[in-house]
Amino acid sequence: MSYSVTFWGTRGTIPVPGDGTIRYGGNTSCVAVRDGEGRCLVLDAGTGIRALGQALRSEAFGGRIDLLLSHAHWDHIQGLPFFPPMFADGQDICIHGPAPVGAGLASVLERQLEPAVYPVPRAARAARLSVREISGDSTVEVSGFRVECCPLSHPGGALGYRITPSRGGPALAYLTDNELGAGGASRVPATWRADLTRFVGGAALLIHDGMYTPVLAEERSGWGHSSALDAVSLAREAGVDHLALFHHDPDHDDAQVDGLLAMARAAAPAGLAVSAAREGWTVTL
Ligand SMILES: [Zn+2]
Repeated sequence: MSYSVTFWGTRGTIPVPGDGTIRYGGNTSCVAVRDGEGRCLVLDAGTGIRALGQALRSEAFGGRIDLLLSHAHWDHIQGLPFFPPMFADGQDICIHGPAPVGAGLASVLERQLEPAVYPVPRAARAARLSVREISGDSTVEVSGFRVECCPLSHPGGALGYRITPSRGGPALAYLTDNELGAGGASRVPATWRADLTRFVGGAALLIHDGMYTPVLAEERSGWGHSSALDAVSLAREAGVDHLALFHHDPDHDDAQVDGLLAMARAAAPAGLAVSAAREGWTVTL
């Protein structure tokens, strides 16, 4: 069964709108997965989720929305308070994600909605919201898709997702905020890289953190992100068809992302397509 993957936010860390980021986009992480029956699975709630919500409202979407958070760092949750379906009476929104360090996921999300930092009263948020904590060995059935989880190497932890239609079909792997380089090794078991390669194995599309040049990845060892070349290596080892570099550095303008993409394409083997994710881009699997 075919489905679509649309990028609504491709940036890491902080939104960076402006002339320099027009082509790849300035909004933080958000990807929508839609099947042929219109069901909607959302990956991360960065600022890109606001425009996705507007699009859902304009098509009068009323089905359940499942939202998978890779983790609760701000660039992955900051759009949620301004997600238009939050204000729709009768709208079901189910949020799945890992527990942040030292706190429950629901309480961290609720803190963004406290009156001191957010003006909209609770009564105006008419959607039925539920929050479910999941872990690295979870498998979840949501909105017509089966979602398998794996732990990523990131400060405080994060989850990667392998998504396939419940009725079968090509796999999408979503691994953002993941350090493939040596600086991330101390956070994960020795078998992690081999497990990760198996987890991603044969995916039709791998969306992976490709934030850095190799030089920057060395300078920022331990920060929890990868070079574009490390992402190519994982895609090659896992036999992926198409790699989308994601979570672009806020300090990189479009020309610098073009440069990373060219470097990644030069390193990719025949048969591996490489793209840099850009806002508004849809891939059909
Ligand atoms: Zn991030």
